[in-house]
Amino acid sequence: MPPPGSSAILLAMNILPNIKTGISVCPHDCPSACALEVEVLDERTIGRVRGAKENSYTLGVICEKVARYAERIHHPDRLLYPLKRKGPKGSGEFQRISWDDALAETAEAMLKAEAEYGPTAVWPYFYAGTMGYVMRDGINRLRHAKGYSNLGDTFCVALSWSGYLAGTGSISGVDPREMQKSDLIVIWGGNPVNTQVNVMTHAMKARKDRGARIACVDIYETGTMKQADIKLLIRPGTDGALACAVMHVLFRDGYADWPYLEKYTDAPKEFAAHLKTKTPEWAAKICDIPVADIEAFAKLIGETRRSFFRIGYGFTRSRNGAPNMHAVTCIPAVTGAWAHEGGGALHSNSGMYGMNKTMIEGLDVRKPGIRILDQSRIGAVLLNDPYDLQGGPPVKVLFVQNTNPASVAPDQTRVKQGLAREDLFTCVHEQFMTETAKFADIVLPATMFLEHDDIYQGGGHSHLMYGRKLVDAPGECRNNHEVICELAKRVGAEHPGFHMSPRELIDWTLVNSKKPGLDVLDAENWVDVMPEFERAHFLKGFGFPDGKFRFRADWRKVRFRSTEVPVGPVEMLPSFPDHCETIEEATADYPFRLATSPARTFLNSTFNETPSSRKREGRPTVFVHPDDMAALRLVDGQKVKVGSARGTVTLHAKTHDGQRRGVLIAESIWPNDAHEDGHGINTLTGADQPAPNGGGAFHDNRVWIKPA
Ligand code: SF4
Repeated sequence: MPPPGSSAILLAMNILPNIKTGISVCPHDCPSACALEVEVLDERTIGRVRGAKENSYTLGVICEKVARYAERIHHPDRLLYPLKRKGPKGSGEFQRISWDDALAETAEAMLKAEAEYGPTAVWPYFYAGTMGYVMRDGINRLRHAKGYSNLGDTFCVALSWSGYLAGTGSISGVDPREMQKSDLIVIWGGNPVNTQVNVMTHAMKARKDRGARIACVDIYETGTMKQADIKLLIRPGTDGALACAVMHVLFRDGYADWPYLEKYTDAPKEFAAHLKTKTPEWAAKICDIPVADIEAFAKLIGETRRSFFRIGYGFTRSRNGAPNMHAVTCIPAVTGAWAHEGGGALHSNSGMYGMNKTMIEGLDVRKPGIRILDQSRIGAVLLNDPYDLQGGPPVKVLFVQNTNPASVAPDQTRVKQGLAREDLFTCVHEQFMTETAKFADIVLPATMFLEHDDIYQGGGHSHLMYGRKLVDAPGECRNNHEVICELAKRVGAEHPGFHMSPRELIDWTLVNSKKPGLDVLDAENWVDVMPEFERAHFLKGFGFPDGKFRFRADWRKVRFRSTEVPVGPVEMLPSFPDHCETIEEATADYPFRLATSPARTFLNSTFNETPSSRKREGRPTVFVHPDDMAALRLVDGQKVKVGSARGTVTLHAKTHDGQRRGVLIAESIWPNDAHEDGHGINTLTGADQPAPNGGGAFHDNRVWIKPA
């Protein structure tokens, strides 16, 4: 194997003479996983970051927040040294200590908890602060080697993947580059202008080259909707109703592809009969849009075989997110668009990679029957809710990497109460002093992606990519793998993976996943795992034993790797697509529906520390329809309180007519302390577990709003 970084730096004379450029991968929680060209000014300093032109998905385009990554990696507030708490929990008062002492204290707390309560009293807690296999998932090797409590990773995909799996049986879809061969691109329930800019690159190319039309379905006029030709602005949580009405028209007006339906779907006749009453008039009332808009949208889909449904995550962050996702995936099955180049759907290709992560995650030593604690219910878990503890011991040690639950987890008040528990030992390994780190007993400084080696997969495309270490880390920062291995040594955890370097783990994983080894990846930067057309379009069958798409969802059987958490009642979910009424509908006391949609230059709580992102986003704001502003006697910019059953948050009202009346949008996630009183936006969101597999219903909140 070549030495680290042997081909990492290339001289890019065409950019600037004598400035070296390294190839890497954006590690952030974004399906684009962009291939990057990074200017390396010296062994510790980067310059500009650009998209790699040679990558056929990135095509040289990245978002503005990563283009100015120098601002983040060289931020003066980066954590540089291990710290030990000296003030009250949450105060942020710390003193510097050595790595040896910090690791020893953390290991001692883990061993003590294990001795007194058993290993499940320790809860390693992580999420998608980096998407690299080694640095994100290595924490599981420590978990499994010791038998610590498992983590149900429900923040993001539990709702959307459940819905997609219910119909297709597979987390994969059509090659996103095929958008360039589409005649209609439907961007449903996502805002790629803010969250994965490359979708727009490919959609715009289709518009320019072949006159493709772009349709957008969403709950407010996003940057994406502004660029669309067809706009459907619906009430939150009503996507299932819209999809049903579209399919009603498709069957009614002869657009259904019956030969395709007979060959590739489970119950087309029964489904068509079910849709008889799901008329545009029925849906128009639920969605609060004109009947004519539904009719025109359905006609366009019916007349356009090359219709590409690029299905987002946003609309699934709702208690009925799974059935709504399932309903949308049914549309290309009715028209048979799946069979056509440039047609079909894509939500995520994460199921396409088939990686063997045994060595990274220690899957070979995972013990059966250990409880799985739902990460979305961290507040309830830490407050010892018997339902969450499942008869087991309280969590006495929390070890956190790659996530910031005191900001991003729902039901924030309870999360903070739990983190403040005096008998809880918390260690946070982080890049900045996050809200969660402030509650820690020990804080460890972490590397950023350009300071370590890792591999990444693109959920929104099909490249397996190598992200190299290009610069040295500042201060005493250590990468996640180093920290996990050091802790393993101190708590007596055994696994071969603890004795391998990141590059050795990467190579093992590639070779044992029947992929080219690291030598190939190092030379070529990425490999494309997209299967042939017939498989990508499910023409050899969908992911069920009989190969048929399921209009009739069997929610009890929709399970995937992360969803063994105990969950709510599946009988509430419709078998055939329908409007599922499990959302937090407005009431007299809570007359508005609030979504906490992603801001353009924040990514969850990442980037909300960079000055340019803070400047661009302004201040914590809530969009209010002009008629609601008038009815509430609010003026533009006025400070307001927004309250749910879970708490109250201070924001600034902004008149915004790009949403239905009664709908509020708060683009997020601002730091908690950017809000008056320090209550972040997730003070309003709920941590109940939507069927069938739990998940964060971040955009499904009934609230009131009034002047502050
Ligand atoms: S679009 Fe997404 S993957 Fe690409 S650079 Fe921005 S955050 Fe990273």
